[in-house]
Amino acid sequence: ASAGHRQGVCILGSTGSIGTNTLDVLARHPDRFEVVALTAGQRVDEILSQCRTWKPRFAVMHDESAAARLREAVRQEGLPTEVLAGPAAMETVASLPEVDMVMGAIVGAAGLSPCLAAARAGKRLLLANKEALVVGGALFMQAVEEGGATLLPIDSEHSAIFQCLPEDRSTWAQRIDHIVLTASGGPFRDRDPATFAGITPEQACAHPNWVMGRKISVDSATMMNKALEVIEARWLFDLQPEQIRVVVHPQSIIHSMVVCRDRSVLAQLGTPDMRVPIAYGLSWPERIESGADLLDFMQLQALTFREPDAARYPGLPLAWDTLRGPEGSTCVLNAANEVAVAAFLAGVLRFDQIHAVNADTLARLSIDASLTTSVEGLLTLDAQARRVADSVVAGLR
Ligand code: NAD
Ligand code: MG
Repeated sequence: ASAGHRQGVCILGSTGSIGTNTLDVLARHPDRFEVVALTAGQRVDEILSQCRTWKPRFAVMHDESAAARLREAVRQEGLPTEVLAGPAAMETVASLPEVDMVMGAIVGAAGLSPCLAAARAGKRLLLANKEALVVGGALFMQAVEEGGATLLPIDSEHSAIFQCLPEDRSTWAQRIDHIVLTASGGPFRDRDPATFAGITPEQACAHPNWVMGRKISVDSATMMNKALEVIEARWLFDLQPEQIRVVVHPQSIIHSMVVCRDRSVLAQLGTPDMRVPIAYGLSWPERIESGADLLDFMQLQALTFREPDAARYPGLPLAWDTLRGPEGSTCVLNAANEVAVAAFLAGVLRFDQIHAVNADTLARLSIDASLTTSVEGLLTLDAQARRVADSVVAGLR
């Protein structure tokens, strides 16, 4: 950033866990960053209070009725924010010339189109929304390349890997033997799998180490989050599926590791606080204050590691299966899992049935290969997979 010029930021999903953590970091650096646009799904009160603090030029809601309520409140308070609605408006604000960086923090495949718009517009794209990359795959990476965008990982594991690698990407393939993604194991890492049928949404959302949105919290409990992260890593670091391994590390202090060709292992450590990867994305290649606590080595418990237990986490192998399967398989897996998690959170599917929905949807849907050559096609495939998953859920009820 040149002296005096503040970087313009657009946050897609500003009312969520990543969105509010991003604003927390931005608030520490008013001289460096300026909030240009905020977007949210439904929560009018939360985004209104963000508009009071940040006075963005634009605020975008998912639907017109929420936007109408926000517009009226913004008018009454005399705020300078223009309120828009719908996915196309999210794409517009993610591509504005005064936006330098876009934080992709919408949950699920719904984030794909606005993230792609940011990629095509050549923005610095801070990607928390892993589902967008799981669905978009090669086409997403192609949009980043063609748009001249800078894609920086925000997922803590992928930020860790990125921090362990040199800036020059052309050296990555030569130096990496494989990577090891660490996994906390979630809230049920020590619970008897025979009792998994009785798990409630509240229990599944009470993560031991991280405070997160409800969907990713359930994914952490099933380890589908780690499965999505394996797929995410394949694209971010251009790795073969067999170059990606997972180890359970209950303390969440080592955020992931790179094992180099010479067997040297590089790890990134810190307290579990998403403001660290967010601050790194915002300031890269520099470093800025994040607000996170220091890691206190004198107080640290032992760092332990174990193998992911196949009976406890049956969905984890689906990552490698879908990466090796027909193109589009990862899109189908993601859609099935979004349907299954929503059904579980709505109380119409048991926790231990989530995996059956994912596996059955993959088995039942034969992918039309022509759908995998465009983003529009992938979104059609996503819709097809959701219909199949809905019927699997209905059959299990
Ligand atoms: P969250 O549920 O707390 O927030 C989601 C945000 O997206 C909210 O602002 C919501 O209003 C918005 N949103 C939801 N549906 C939408 C739709 N259809 N259209 C537009 N906006 C919509 O989720 P989160 O925990 O902040 O996670 C966001 C993303 O970041 C997810 O992809 C998650 O996997 C990833 N991530 C989160 C964490 C974490 O610590 N929370 C860590 C790593 C990665
Ligand atoms: Mg993660």
